[in-house]
Amino acid sequence: MIVAGIDIGSRAAKAAIIKDGTILATTICDTGPESIKTAHATINAALEGTGLTLDDIDYTVATGYGRVLVPFARENVSEISCHARGINWYHPSVRTILDMGGQDCKAIRCDAEGHVTDFVMNDKCAGGTGRFLEMIADVLNAPLAEIGDLALQSKETIPFNTICAVFAKTEAIARLRQGVNRSDILAGLNEAIATRCLNLLKRVSIEKDFTITGGIAKNSGMVAKIAEKVGLEPLLAEDPQIIGALGAALFAQEKYLGKETEEAAKVQYGYNDGTGDYFITINLGSCDGCGECVSACPEGIFEVFQEDGHQPKARVTEASRKRLSILCPGYHSCSSEHRTNCLSICQQNAISLTW
Ligand code: SF4
Ligand code: SF4
Repeated sequence: MIVAGIDIGSRAAKAAIIKDGTILATTICDTGPESIKTAHATINAALEGTGLTLDDIDYTVATGYGRVLVPFARENVSEISCHARGINWYHPSVRTILDMGGQDCKAIRCDAEGHVTDFVMNDKCAGGTGRFLEMIADVLNAPLAEIGDLALQSKETIPFNTICAVFAKTEAIARLRQGVNRSDILAGLNEAIATRCLNLLKRVSIEKDFTITGGIAKNSGMVAKIAEKVGLEPLLAEDPQIIGALGAALFAQEKYLGKETEEAAKVQYGYNDGTGDYFITINLGSCDGCGECVSACPEGIFEVFQEDGHQPKARVTEASRKRLSILCPGYHSCSSEHRTNCLSICQQNAISLTW
């Protein structure tokens, strides 16, 4: 059995090939302007030297920004699910993931099987993303691959008040003109980004063990600052950048064997206390993003979100997550007070409550 996962990110495209349960090949390429060409180039690069061709691959799953445009993929799975599944291969004890990609940052919580149990993402601001670091490397006239080690040489961290890409660039240029060391500027930016990452992680609650995935996990200076802020040494994978592709390949393996589990596509929001578990679960696999639950819920608990180029999905609003025990009286109370509620309105049966 030969399966493949392909992760078309905004900056880099990755592929992983698994043969009979063992990783046969992985590769990382630049994402080009055309997703279809990028997908073919990436899988061909991964196949190079294996003696295999695309026709030998039994099942391919795509993930990432360009996942819907991979012509040879049989299915696509969100990168959130793939990162959780991929890291579970290397470190099954990991429960908290910080995925730092080319243009967004995600904090993910997962269970012992690598199923996502919660996530939040920062896709509004470039700070802490690959795009941001490329811009800073450019301003400092330093190779991108070297800015991690450069930051570690800092003797005095320069405080940055913002990681807004525009203001941070202006501030970095001003500091350079004042004669401040590049390493001190980088350390300051890493400090600001790490603080922001810590806040993102706190929103899903930080549990041991903790990891960082994505290309930025190869930046030693950034990893050190995040470890310092979080107070935990991350368990890193051999190559943190291929974790999404590896997760996609593991989904491909399960799907080929007919073993895929529904849990992989579900996200839970809620809490447990001494009286039991109280969770709203949304099956992202079946949710079509129609938004009916948003209108039906009298408490405004749901919203529909959309990752760039992907199908919209429902989620529980951030404000509601912290107050679910107060806001949601559960299906039975809610249905007695209102003609409709989230469960009865959802045509896809994508919502379940454990009240
Ligand atoms: S009603 Fe159901 S299918 Fe529609 S957005 Fe809400 S959860 Fe998704
Ligand atoms: S049961 Fe009622 S209050 Fe609770 S999430 Fe559903 S619609 Fe909203």
